[in-house]
Amino acid sequence: MTHRILILGGTTEARQLAERLAGRTGLAVTLSLAGRTVNPLAHPVPVRSGGFGGAEGLAGYLAAERVDLLVDATHPYAARISANAARAASDAGVAILALRRPSWQTVVGDRWTPVDDATHAVAALGAVPRRVFLALGRQEIGPFDTAPQHSYLVRSVDPVEPPLRVPDATYLLARGPFPEAEERALLEENGIDAIVAKNSGGMATYGKIAAARALGIEVLLFRRPPLPPVKTVETASEAVLAIDHWLAGANDRGV
Ligand code: NAP
Repeated sequence: MTHRILILGGTTEARQLAERLAGRTGLAVTLSLAGRTVNPLAHPVPVRSGGFGGAEGLAGYLAAERVDLLVDATHPYAARISANAARAASDAGVAILALRRPSWQTVVGDRWTPVDDATHAVAALGAVPRRVFLALGRQEIGPFDTAPQHSYLVRSVDPVEPPLRVPDATYLLARGPFPEAEERALLEENGIDAIVAKNSGGMATYGKIAAARALGIEVLLFRRPPLPPVKTVETASEAVLAIDHWLAGANDRGV
């Protein structure tokens, strides 16, 4: 009997889990991407791309594709798809497991300022001109248009279109991981005195946090959004264990 697993991805962990499950007999694994990145990295399992049409659309997909297990391995800030996943799994009677990195925790020397979102980050930056590194998704930087007094360094995977309407912005196209030594050099070369970022967790983007600590730079960190209360694991290895447990039939609805 083949068990069908749908992984909602867009993260390193989703790709790692797909790598761990690819080629296993008795499993048919599909990975779903939102379709935001122009050239997504290759995955070792079949990939589908684009939204489902809300929780209802996802529930319809789960039923039509006879999915047995939904793994929500989306980014911890992708709150809408996670809410949709929980609802759709419940409506379709499909087991669900979430795979999410734990948040980074502050350590001595960190200068973190928690903010709700980009608009609050703009307010927290203040009126005095600063040199700001925006390590955010390209869809999230619009509010910084309202603070043209600052200089911006913007890093994204795909080009920011349209660019910010501010006099001083530099754009950097890059895909992580970003090691600490390179992040430190980037911050120093650009004279950065504030970073705006998400508390993504994991090591791939922690380099800037460690570098900021070493340099005494303030980090304005978005608070994590609330996520649905489904069974959650933190690593691809833990997800494999939970999936094996589910396959063993210990619980035919839960994971
Ligand atoms: P979001 O706000 O939670 O979701 C917006 C809509 O995008 C969802 O309602 C859904 O459309 C569609 N969608 C999102 N993830 C999808 C997936 N894996 N497969 C199919 N459709 C998906 O999500 P977001 O914050 O824009 O993130 C989009 C994607 O980028 C996610 O896959 C996430 O893992 C990845 N990502 C996000 C961040 C971040 O900071 N937010 C960072 C790195 C990677 P429908 O309602 O039409 O189904």
